Amino acid sequence: MIERVLIVGGSRAAYAAAFELRRHKKDCQIVIVEQGAHPGADVCSIPNRMMSGFDDFANLASSTVTELRDRYQIDVRGGQEVVAVDTGNETVTINDTNAGREVTLKYDQLVFATGSRGRRPDLPGADRSDLVSVRNTNDASKLLGTLKDKPGRVAVLGGDYTTLLVAEALVMRGIEVTVVTPGEEVFDQADPMVGAVVSEAITKHGATVRVGESVSGFEPGVIYLKDDAISCDMVLLGLGSEANTDLAHQAGLTLGARRAIVTDRRQQTTVAGIWAAGDCCETRHLVSGERGYWPGALAAAQQGQVAGANLGDHYAVSPGTLGTISTRLFGIEVARTGLNELDARNAGFDAAVVTVEGQSRADTFAGGRALTVRLTYDRFTSRVLGAEIVGEEGVAAPLATAVAAITGGLTTAEVASLDGGHVPSRSALPSPLTLAALEASES
Ligand SMILES: Cc1cc2nc3c(=O)[nH]c(=O)nc-3n(C[C@H](O)[C@H](O)[C@H](O)COP(=O)(O)OP(=O)(O)OC[C@H]3O[C@@H](n4cnc5c(N)ncnc54)[C@H](O)[C@@H]3O)c2cc1C
Repeated sequence: MIERVLIVGGSRAAYAAAFELRRHKKDCQIVIVEQGAHPGADVCSIPNRMMSGFDDFANLASSTVTELRDRYQIDVRGGQEVVAVDTGNETVTINDTNAGREVTLKYDQLVFATGSRGRRPDLPGADRSDLVSVRNTNDASKLLGTLKDKPGRVAVLGGDYTTLLVAEALVMRGIEVTVVTPGEEVFDQADPMVGAVVSEAITKHGATVRVGESVSGFEPGVIYLKDDAISCDMVLLGLGSEANTDLAHQAGLTLGARRAIVTDRRQQTTVAGIWAAGDCCETRHLVSGERGYWPGALAAAQQGQVAGANLGDHYAVSPGTLGTISTRLFGIEVARTGLNELDARNAGFDAAVVTVEGQSRADTFAGGRALTVRLTYDRFTSRVLGAEIVGEEGVAAPLATAVAAITGGLTTAEVASLDGGHVPSRSALPSPLTLAALEASES
């Protein structure tokens, strides 16, 4: 009998696992079961597609279901939700929404790649259907469909970056947007100083930002704050994501930080024959060494690849994460990697921070923009622990250097003396990252 590997979920982690498995093993059956209508869609491109005025998300996948079947013998089934797992009999129950019936499918190896979902606040009225998260193409289509019938005001609750990207697209489409967050600032994955730059950019684009607001509940068309209320036609939830693991829990898999699936470094779960990869999983942080929840597209692809290689009888381990986020929001490039000051203190480091406000280009080169680097380091070892970088341009190069430096365990003095070359149109001399590392090494 040919072995059947069944993958639950049909996004980044699932596709990476399937491709890698097929590369190593030709004689197994690979079945991907995806509840959504557009398997393999690149969800990171949804905001850009919305921004460009498109309402159609059908062709966001790099390969069609037919190509995957004919070229790689990967059987991708859209519109099918796995509703139960029977680990004793090694079967799953699938609700086939196309045919309107339930079917049972046997597996030899099972991979959970069920990703994440938007967090809902635990407040009165928060289960209302007009409180939406954009996590996939279905959500995006529904949001645009509703706003087409009744374009108006959208309130964004929270300030996570993927939702702010969607908010930016809505602003570009002429919709009145108010961002309201209980946090000190938006983009709370970084220091409030970075979030303040993002808030300013949002405001410059004509949207409203209200920070430090505690929300007490929702009614149709209203968000209630402690001393005020905001009228809106729809609420977009931007409170971050949580692992989508109800099915994994039902299947008896051990859940860890933030209810994400516990795996070993080969992406094997605590149940034999069951693997997991992507945003539904815990990861190990490369700086703190702690396991936690740091979802992201690159980590999802890496973990999928690792699961696929191991299923294909190879040996691979996941590298771990720096929790890197890098994006462009309302005309501002913003990135964070490693541990920021708060994370580092919480992880037990004697953390210190240096902030340098520099320029994106050499003084002699016209058009430079302000570029701020916040470097977190350990006072005791001088090791660089994290970096946050924000500006209108020039974030990618210092981010890449910081990622390599943190991964390699470099000290502040070593980062200050790296030979990264110099291109006047692309970097000041010395660069803000070099200056920050130098200042930290001399403190
Ligand atoms: C709007 C937006 C923009 C983003 N931009 C970026 C970015 O710029 N950079 C970045 O690093 N990350 C970004 N992300 C996050 C990134 O998309 C995710 O980290 C990545 O997609 C995770 O991949 P995954 O395969 O683990 O999970 P997901 O992409 O969440 O996919 C999980 C899939 O499983 C399916 N599924 C779940 N349960 C079942 C079930 N029971 N049966 C069948 N199917 C099921 C879901 O329908 C879903 O398609 C963005 C996310 C969004 C929503």
